Amino acid sequence: MSVLVYVETTNGKVAKNGFEAVFYGKKVADKFGGDVVAVTSGSADDSALAELGNYGASKVLVNKGLNDADDSQTAKLVQAAADKTGANIIVFSHDLIGKAVAPRVSAALKAGLVSGAIDAPSDENGFTCKVNVFSGKAFGFVNVKTATRIISLLPNSFKPESGGSPAAVEAFDCDCGAARVSVVETKTQDGEIPLPEAELVVSAGRGLKGPENWGMIEDLAKELGAATACSRPVADIGWRPHHEHVGQTGVAIRPNLYIAVGISGAIQHLAGVNGSKVIVVINTDAEAPFFKAADYGVVGDAFEVVPKLVEAVKKFKASNN
Ligand SMILES: Cc1cc2nc3c(=O)[nH]c(=O)nc-3n(C[C@H](O)[C@H](O)[C@H](O)COP(=O)(O)OP(=O)(O)OC[C@H]3O[C@@H](n4cnc5c(N)ncnc54)[C@H](O)[C@@H]3O)c2cc1C
Repeated sequence: MSVLVYVETTNGKVAKNGFEAVFYGKKVADKFGGDVVAVTSGSADDSALAELGNYGASKVLVNKGLNDADDSQTAKLVQAAADKTGANIIVFSHDLIGKAVAPRVSAALKAGLVSGAIDAPSDENGFTCKVNVFSGKAFGFVNVKTATRIISLLPNSFKPESGGSPAAVEAFDCDCGAARVSVVETKTQDGEIPLPEAELVVSAGRGLKGPENWGMIEDLAKELGAATACSRPVADIGWRPHHEHVGQTGVAIRPNLYIAVGISGAIQHLAGVNGSKVIVVINTDAEAPFFKAADYGVVGDAFEVVPKLVEAVKKFKASNN
């Protein structure tokens, strides 16, 4: 019996969500018993994979022959690893891959799936797990009745803490079938912090009046080491790239700090950001709905407030150097 955790690797490194999923898997194993085994594919260094041991994995199974796996192959990889380890709990991150693969594995193994868990499961009624519902407006508790249980963990629900020792890395060759989809080209944004992984995010909306005014948002993000984001209309009009659009129909994020500048705070926007640990809102309209969700608010003109904030951050950094 073990807890199996699927871990994504990119460019030879373990993705941030992978550490979080393993750390979460350890919490689950502490409650329900068994070891934590991670499974992955591709060409990550053994030393990078062994690091998962510091977050709770005792072993990492890696199929090095399986590069650029598509979702159906990843599902087969996880199924084969579940078979090998006899895992009765399987954990994914609720990211792009987890959202596509966890339901496939759930269907193949006839295992109940908790999609987007935000807490470790309890043994109430056997196995019960907390999730966000209604775009984060309420909580739900999902009770799984099957012998094998699958959980996809909402990213940023737990801050992984390291403390264990390196994991054993073991080659794991299994037949995952042929890819049905192949990646033709990958374009990365050099120097930018990927939005789903960012701890700090500076976001702006239609209150900025036009794309020419985003310089101050980028300045603030640069000084803070933050990623930039935007509301949907801003991406739809073409002021900002679509990958920055956050909300119900965009990227859902849960950073430690979300600064919203000139964004009204419509429910569809909040749906993608209300899991942020601290929300700061800058808006000229004291009645803007975003203030109800804010931890800190500035009623003021972004064109006055943001440059002052940039200067304040610069001064703070200089005085701490
Ligand atoms: C099915 C559906 C899905 C949707 N999905 C999403 C989604 O995923 N993400 C999303 O963002 N939206 C989504 N929307 C749109 C959403 O309903 C809102 O229309 C949108 O979020 C508003 O964007 P905004 O706040 O940038 O613009 P506005 O609503 O125009 O708000 C601009 C704000 O800027 C303030 N402001 C103006 N000037 C200044 C200034 N100088 N300084 C400071 N503040 C200023 C104003 O007071 C106002 O509050 C969706 C809508 C639908 C119907």
